[in-house]
Amino acid sequence: MTTTVSSATPVTSTSLAFPAIRRGSLTTLQVNLGYRCNQSCSHCHVGAGPSRTEMMEQATLELIPRVLLARGISCLDITGGAPELHPGFRDLVRAGRQAGAAVIDRCNLTILSEPGQEDLGSFLAQERVTVVASLPCYLQDNVDRQRGDGVFERSLAGLRQLNALGYGQADSGLELYLVFNPQGPVLPPPQAPLEAEYRRVLAQDHGLVFTGLYALANMPIRRFEAVLRASGELEAYQTLLRRQHRAANLEAVMCRHLISVDWQGRLHDCDFNQMLDFGLSREGLGASTSSEGSGGGTPAHLRDLLDLDPAGAAVRVADHCWGCTAGSGSSCGGALDGQAEDSGGKLPSMRQPIGH
Ligand code: SF4
Ligand code: SF4
Repeated sequence: MTTTVSSATPVTSTSLAFPAIRRGSLTTLQVNLGYRCNQSCSHCHVGAGPSRTEMMEQATLELIPRVLLARGISCLDITGGAPELHPGFRDLVRAGRQAGAAVIDRCNLTILSEPGQEDLGSFLAQERVTVVASLPCYLQDNVDRQRGDGVFERSLAGLRQLNALGYGQADSGLELYLVFNPQGPVLPPPQAPLEAEYRRVLAQDHGLVFTGLYALANMPIRRFEAVLRASGELEAYQTLLRRQHRAANLEAVMCRHLISVDWQGRLHDCDFNQMLDFGLSREGLGASTSSEGSGGGTPAHLRDLLDLDPAGAAVRVADHCWGCTAGSGSSCGGALDGQAEDSGGKLPSMRQPIGH
């Protein structure tokens, strides 16, 4: 299900620095509520699991709708861990909706069948929450190998439940996106034909429907970087990403319009920078005159967005950023091809998220 991409603008030197990026208008606030999860997938880039205790505090949660209103942010993207396990999850969803934002739930699907979560699907439907769920393959073996025994069947049960509520059904207005990522150090195949194949197999074999598929490249950071280093494939993968760089994708990378908030309320340019602990600084955040996104200064907090507009600020780019612009491009809302042209550089808020 994976392939390398051959039709791209080649990067002639592998020592080039990633091009500078500046922020546009902020349309999406992506919030990580903490690392507690009902699963403990081997590939999990935040090391989430049932025993993790990190959780966003109430005072930080209460800032979120205020920031949405203060900055006119149109999309609240909620992730974790399993964000639904946070006791404040449902109140946050309601507050986001009341603030006029579209809300995305990064749902691992198995949470829908956890004790105490029986009414989660109905709650999400009632609040018109968009569900973005990882299903890295439509074959049981591949999913269970990456996410744990039994996860494929429980994921299908979750999809069945969501379909029954109207999710993914034409004209229901309830959107259900699936997320694919390759199993190894290769670029994902083109998104459209892969989506068609998912649609065919899930409908034919399981009677399931969904709104769309996001195909994401794997970032060579944290656990995946360690795996590639151990297998001697890291350098080849990094070279692949650089060589498949397409400058056109720079216009649509998610950091142009998204800010990522960690469970402690600190701000980052994107989820990947959050995982690398590349925090934003208060000085750099509101400074359209800032010449580089190199960090340093006072760590920026969610509350800083009450009075600072990050538009024009420099993004902290580094080598991992080639993973966003290689081939068809990759954001947590899937391939980037054509998005900038389609939207005049302003991505629709539903095309921003990252999967579990
Ligand atoms: S990794 Fe983050 S900062 Fe780098 S280009 Fe991608 S979205 Fe932007
Ligand atoms: S990958 Fe997602 S579902 Fe799996 S442990 Fe991490 S947060 Fe939980």
